[in-house]
Amino acid sequence: MAGLKDYVNKKVDTNREQIEYHVKEILKLVGEDVEREGLLETPARVTRMYEEIFAGYEVDPRDVLGVTFDERHEELVIVKDITYYSQCEHHMAPFFGKVHIGYIPSGKIAGLSKLARLVEAVSRRLQVQERITSQIADIMDEVLQPHGVMVVVEGEHLCMCARGVKKPGSKTVTTAVRGTFRSDAAQRAEFLSLIKQ
Ligand SMILES: [Zn+2]
Repeated sequence: MAGLKDYVNKKVDTNREQIEYHVKEILKLVGEDVEREGLLETPARVTRMYEEIFAGYEVDPRDVLGVTFDERHEELVIVKDITYYSQCEHHMAPFFGKVHIGYIPSGKIAGLSKLARLVEAVSRRLQVQERITSQIADIMDEVLQPHGVMVVVEGEHLCMCARGVKKPGSKTVTTAVRGTFRSDAAQRAEFLSLIKQ
């Protein structure tokens, strides 16, 4: 009975070893002495960190929203200030900030904590902020089939601080609108004013 579990554990162990090995190689290639004390545990630490920040690959974001129930509420629902942490796919550098989601249900609603889990599933992988934004909107649209959904994502990108144009403190804001939010400017304005409060 332990067969599958053993197999999975072995695979996880092998991946871990491989990542540790390659992190060590990168350290050597950038000119480090991998035997000095401060770096001895670094490959293992980086590997454990990767398991956390790339945990999204283990999850299908659609399943996260899966549990929904019928409700008569057909007015704007907003969950704002959901924090996220992601890695930009161009530099593997962190970017992070807040997600705000608003939708108008049409019979199905998601548990509020499920929206936070959706944000985690989408952001804990290599990403670009624009895609995080549109994926959240598309998955909400697909699974809940609301009248409309609007997503605003704010992000600070370390690759913009540490390299290239070097502009610390600048924020990127991306939006995605689906359904009635597309045609209804008043609805968009209501959402935007509520997330600013
Ligand atoms: Zn980048």
